[in-house]
Amino acid sequence: MRPTELRAAVVGDGGLLNQAIAERLTSERLASGRDLRTHAVLLTVSDGWESDAAHDRHRRRALASGVPWLPVWTEGARALIGPLVRPDAPGCHRCLRMRRAHAREDWPVVRAVRERYATEPEPERSPLLTTVAAEITAHLVAARLMAAAIPSRELTVIGLRTLDVSSHTFLPDPCCPECGGLPDDSPQAAPRTLRPRPK
Ligand SMILES: [Zn+2]
Repeated sequence: MRPTELRAAVVGDGGLLNQAIAERLTSERLASGRDLRTHAVLLTVSDGWESDAAHDRHRRRALASGVPWLPVWTEGARALIGPLVRPDAPGCHRCLRMRRAHAREDWPVVRAVRERYATEPEPERSPLLTTVAAEITAHLVAARLMAAAIPSRELTVIGLRTLDVSSHTFLPDPCCPECGGLPDDSPQAAPRTLRPRPK
């Protein structure tokens, strides 16, 4: 496939997803600290699972340059694209994580596993990630970026066993530690001005 003209900065682990996406985009692997402002989007790509802390770093790096950030990674039997996090709009990876947590009953077990493996320096690649799955994921990423068809607050999931594709939207969390805008409670922020309300 002919590479597109999209100027995307791809920061990846050199794995299957990274290679497949790089082949479809006019891109360059950036050394840490390089200026992203001449790029349309920052793509971070990993064949394995990425911790919240790693995603926090990616988001802040993109935010500092004013460009959107799109993570692509795997989580067990799924490859995940998104969410596309824009510097000027709420709705980020932390919002998504909290929404997903509230929607599943086994969250305490999942959280325990994640906390255990969040300390691993090199999360392992999903054993279900094949070259075909990586190609499909890369095709979706490139096609949607070129068509500007990735909305904010949406996660695309590719099942690595079945290769089925689904998209899921979510609402921003106003209490999100990364993008939430709720001020802290304080006496000054809660004035009670009594006014007459005649019937
Ligand atoms: Zn958020």
